[in-house]
Amino acid sequence: MKLRQIGTAIAGAALALSLVACGGSPAATGTSSNGSTVYKIATDTTFAPFEYAEANGNYAGIDIELLDAIAKDQGFEYKLDPVGFDAALQNVQSGQADGVIAGMSITDKRKQVFDFSEPYYNATVCAAAKSDGDVKSLDDLRGKNVAIKTGTMSASWAQSLAEQYGFTTTTFDTSDVMYQDVLAGNSVACFEDTPVMSYAITNGGVALHIIAESEETSEFAAPYGFAVNKGTNPDLIKKFNDGLANVKKDGTYDKIISKYVKTNA
Ligand code: GLN
Repeated sequence: MKLRQIGTAIAGAALALSLVACGGSPAATGTSSNGSTVYKIATDTTFAPFEYAEANGNYAGIDIELLDAIAKDQGFEYKLDPVGFDAALQNVQSGQADGVIAGMSITDKRKQVFDFSEPYYNATVCAAAKSDGDVKSLDDLRGKNVAIKTGTMSASWAQSLAEQYGFTTTTFDTSDVMYQDVLAGNSVACFEDTPVMSYAITNGGVALHIIAESEETSEFAAPYGFAVNKGTNPDLIKKFNDGLANVKKDGTYDKIISKYVKTNA
């Protein structure tokens, strides 16, 4: 970077900081060429079938298609920012993004710092081990190490079980790297949201199998919602909720889900 560019970068950072400090309208929001609002929406990098990069680099998945359908229905524009799950939450909290859609579970603790939309998908959490190995239940984890993902509900579930089942944990920022750690034999199991683990096994060819699943009523199995920083963007939550109701009514929601999730019904 040349000196002048560094100067510009510092000035830009200072401006961004002052905008965050001022509060009011979210700093991340931009304006498109036709003058309409462009929301910056943070998401996970690899969390199929909710969000993942296709070979051409474009993002696909339930969250991405749902956001797109809702944006079209409500007449707003957005820019997707796939930064990873924990980073997405942090970016919203620091005002670097207006909202997050990342298979994010709606929990009471998160409600202290985020405003959530209506729930749009239910998910339990699970543990998975190598499909050809001898780890077949939580009891087989004693004295072993498992892989968990930063800031997630499945990680919290793992931590709540660690003492009882006598295992240690190693943390990863992304789901794909976490699965690799189990396949490589460094960890004997990983903890993940069940629909995501099932999809990786069935559609992603990841050679793991699910060895335990939380109850549907477990505090760790909370439904997914779209979120904004608490108190900063009621308009965007309203648009998401109104759009969600519309795309549910007109069949778009079901079409998106059935494209990615095969049910036996
Ligand atoms: N649903 C989980 C949570 O909110 C994990 C989300 C994710 O990894 N993208 O904690």
